[in-house]
Amino acid sequence: MKKYCCEDMDYHANYKCDLHDNPYECPDKILIYDKRSQDYGLIIHDGGTSSIQIIFCPWCGSKL
Ligand SMILES: [Zn+2]
Ligand SMILES: [Zn+2]
Repeated sequence: MKKYCCEDMDYHANYKCDLHDNPYECPDKILIYDKRSQDYGLIIHDGGTSSIQIIFCPWCGSKL
């Protein structure tokens, strides 16, 4: 299992909602991992599938 920089990152990266299969539909899911590009992104809940790519952890500032 992958090690994350901090507890917050670990929590959000592994967060799995029972109600929403689609992470973009879940208001509690804010972090998405793109397996293709191997990038992390913050989900923008605008009803679509937008996300902002992040290079540093938004919680502790470590490089991802
Ligand atoms: Zn972190
Ligand atoms: Zn949900």
